[in-house]
Amino acid sequence: MKPKGLDHYKDAGKRAMQWHAENIKKMKQCRFDTIAVHGIYSMQEALDFNQGSIIEPIYMSTSQAYRDSDEMEAALSYQIPTWCYSRIGNPSIYYMEGVLALLESYGAGVDASCIATASGMAAIQSAVDQFLIEDPKRPNAPMNFVATTQVYGGTFQQFAIRKEKERNIEWRRVINSNDISEWESKIDENTRFIYGEMPSNPAQAFFDVKKIVDLAHKYGLPAIFDSTVATPALLRPLEFGADIVVQSVSKSLFTSGFGIAGAVIARKNITTNIDNPEMKADFCAYLKQLPNRDNGPNISPMNAIMALNDIRTIRHRMDVASRSTMTVAEFLKDHKHIEGVDYLGLKEHKLHELAKEYLFLVDAEHDEQYGSPQNRYGHLMSFRIKGGAENTRKVFDAFQRIWRATDLGRIKSVATIPTISTHAQQGEEGRKLAQIPPNLIRLCVGMEHPDDIIADIDQALSTLDGKTISVTSPEYSAAGASSARLV
Ligand SMILES: *Cc1c(COP(=O)(O)O)cnc(C)c1O
Repeated sequence: MKPKGLDHYKDAGKRAMQWHAENIKKMKQCRFDTIAVHGIYSMQEALDFNQGSIIEPIYMSTSQAYRDSDEMEAALSYQIPTWCYSRIGNPSIYYMEGVLALLESYGAGVDASCIATASGMAAIQSAVDQFLIEDPKRPNAPMNFVATTQVYGGTFQQFAIRKEKERNIEWRRVINSNDISEWESKIDENTRFIYGEMPSNPAQAFFDVKKIVDLAHKYGLPAIFDSTVATPALLRPLEFGADIVVQSVSKSLFTSGFGIAGAVIARKNITTNIDNPEMKADFCAYLKQLPNRDNGPNISPMNAIMALNDIRTIRHRMDVASRSTMTVAEFLKDHKHIEGVDYLGLKEHKLHELAKEYLFLVDAEHDEQYGSPQNRYGHLMSFRIKGGAENTRKVFDAFQRIWRATDLGRIKSVATIPTISTHAQQGEEGRKLAQIPPNLIRLCVGMEHPDDIIADIDQALSTLDGKTISVTSPEYSAAGASSARLV
C-alpha cells in the first residue's frame, strides 16, 4: 500500500478543525438552554462519526487506532485533531468539555476552552499549579498567592497543607473578601495568582467579581474563581473578565449524584506574569496536551457523559431550586429556634445588594415566563440553631426527608454540619477564618416540593420543644441493624 503521507492527514485535520470551529461558532449563536441541550454534538457529528447515535456515546475505550504510521505521527505530535489515549483526550470527554466551555463563556464575548478532570479538587490543582513554578529569571525567589479563606474545606487543605506546608508557597489569606483593599495589600512581585470562591461554601461570602478581576489584571495576574455554587446558569465570571473558572462538576451540574467530576474553563489569552506563550494563548489546551497528560488527573468517559446528561437541564433546575430555597429561607428566618439564616437571597444578608448585581437566572429576559432579568441566588443556604452544637445535632438527627450527607447540589435535599464534616480537618482556627460556627447547618435544597422540605425542617426543629420523634420505626429496626453491619 502506498503511504498517504503526513500532508494528507494534516490537510484532512485542518478541514476537520475548521468544521468543528464552524459548528462551535454556530452553537455560540444559540441561547443558553439550546447550548446546554445540544452542546457541540451535532447531527452531522452523529451521522459521520457515531452511527447516527442521538445521544453522545460513551467511548469506554483507552485509545484510538490509526490508519498508518503517517496518521499516527501527525496525531501524536498534535498536528491533527486526535484523542489518542483517554488520559489525554476521549470523544465523550471532549463533548462534555465542549458544552462547559460554551456555557461558561455564554454572553461573555470571548472564546473559552475547557478541560475536564476527575474531581473539583483536581480541577483546582490543575488550574493553580501552572502558576506555581520557579521563574527561571529569578531562581529561588519566594512564591505566594492571594486567596480568600472562605473556601470549600478541601480547597482550604490543598492551599494550607499541600501548597503552604509541603511546598513552602505562601497562601496570603484574604479574610474579608468584600474589602478590595485587603486583597490589594497582599499582592507583591512574588504573587502568582488571585483566587476566590464565590458564593463560598458554606458561608456564602461574596465579593465584587469585576473589581477583583481588575485588581488582578492591574498587577498582571490571572484571576481564578471557583464558581461551583453559582453554576453558569446564575453567574459566569468570564463575562466579568475572569481568566479561569473552576467547577466542582460533582455538585449542581452533575446533580443526579452518580459520580465525581471537575472542570477548568479558561478564556483564550489569559493574563499571567509567567513567561509561557503557549499556556497564555490557550490555557486548557496547554493543560490537556502537557501538564495533565503527565500528571493524569483525567475524568472517565462514563462520568463525563453522565455529567453532560445532567448539565442539559441546569438552567431550569437552578431556577426552581433557587426559588424553593428562598421559600425555605423565608420560613426559617423568623423561626423561634433559629439564630440566623445565611442566604444571599434574603434582604437581611449583608451581601445581598452586591449579590443582586451579579446573580441572575441566565436568559430570564428571553423566557416566556419571565420576560425580564430575574435574580436567583442558588440552592445553597445555611442556618444557625439556637442553643449551640448539641441542639444543632438534635435537629440534624431528626431530619427524615432531608438527607444527612456531605454533599450538595443534589436533586434531593441534603444537609450537613460543616464543623464535623466538610470543614472538620482545618481545625478551630481555620474554621474561624472561614466563618463556620459549630451550630451551623448547611442545607442544599433539591427539586422536591418546598412544602415537604419545610415540613421536614419544622418537625426536626420541634424536637427542641421536647417532642420526641422516632426516626426509625420499631418494625424496621432489625433491617436497620442489618444494613449497619454492611458498613
Ligand atoms: C465540592 C467542592 C469542591 C471540590 O470538588 P470535588 O468534585 O468534590 O473534588 C470545590 N469547590 C467547591 C465550592 C465545592 O463545593
